[in-house]
Amino acid sequence: MKKTIMTMLAAAVLCATSWAEAVRPEDTEVWEPVPKHVRPGATFADPPEDAIILFDGETLNGWESVEGGPAKWIVANGALTVAPGTGDIRTTQKFGDVQLHIEWRTAHLPPEKKGQDRGNSGVFLQERYEVQVLDSFDNRTYSNGQAGAIYKQHIPLVNASRPAGEWQTYDIVFIAPRFEQDGTLRSPARMTVFHNGVLIHHDVELRGTTTYIGEPSYEPHGDGALRLQDHGHIVSFRNIWVRKLEGL
Ligand code: MG
Repeated sequence: MKKTIMTMLAAAVLCATSWAEAVRPEDTEVWEPVPKHVRPGATFADPPEDAIILFDGETLNGWESVEGGPAKWIVANGALTVAPGTGDIRTTQKFGDVQLHIEWRTAHLPPEKKGQDRGNSGVFLQERYEVQVLDSFDNRTYSNGQAGAIYKQHIPLVNASRPAGEWQTYDIVFIAPRFEQDGTLRSPARMTVFHNGVLIHHDVELRGTTTYIGEPSYEPHGDGALRLQDHGHIVSFRNIWVRKLEGL
């Protein structure tokens, strides 16, 4: 009897060990703390005179599919909307350190759509570093994957989300990582982010490319495009501009 229990225990430990060895998306989900909800103000930013306008409200000029060829998202009513299944898009221009302003809006969805399956998209600096776009107004998910999270790296300080169907803003200061000649990291990427005018990240350090599975790490790279994610959901963008930050 005792032997049987020991054998079962041994089998359970063995099973647990091999289970733990497989790296799962859940391994990097952080659910606590839950950012406090803060209701934002109502104004939007006009671009300053030295801004580079990345979306003119009427065409996809300056954008391409990350899979090659022209971007296939939908332009209507001054907004750029994900055409699900057509893939991520990116700017043809590449950037280093920038101040970015971008407005986004998730579609109204039935309540059975939950968690990451609710208005998911993303704003990727240099194609690698994602600030999550999600309907997080009343939609619990892992805290490091909600709207405004630097995906699976930094939980927003507060939840400044507006409800689905309303326009929201991100204002991001992005300091690109620096690499030595031999490709080793000299200084990590840093971000400061305002969500609807509310500070949600202050000069945080990134641990590398934001990844869905496993721990982030850096690969050396130069300037990179701004990339927007097709996660299969209807999400719109407008009023997208950057200011190049020189001499930092
Ligand atoms: Mg996303």
